[in-house]
Amino acid sequence: MAQHIHCTVSNCHYYGEGNKCFASEILITEDSLAHQQPDSVDAIQATTLPQTKVDSCMQTCCKTFVHSGSSKIDVDGATKSQSNFGGSNRTK
Ligand code: SF4
Repeated sequence: MAQHIHCTVSNCHYYGEGNKCFASEILITEDSLAHQQPDSVDAIQATTLPQTKVDSCMQTCCKTFVHSGSSKIDVDGATKSQSNFGGSNRTK
């Protein structure tokens, strides 16, 4: 089953029309871990990172976020493709 990632962060390089994320993979983690790691540590290294626990969604973040037009777009190893969204036409 295709996985759909919905996101409203419209100034992210991976953001697309309809509030969809078109990154090949993303890393969601605990805020403090994201702050400790450089931009190069992202979804590709996910299996080597420590597990984290949080008390609420307010303590999580998308570490794959990168500003549109940033010179750091290629640092995390993720790619952007419209096909990543599974071809869904779902609007709800
Ligand atoms: S990479 Fe993260 S912040 Fe960027 S569009 Fe995808 S889910 Fe949103």
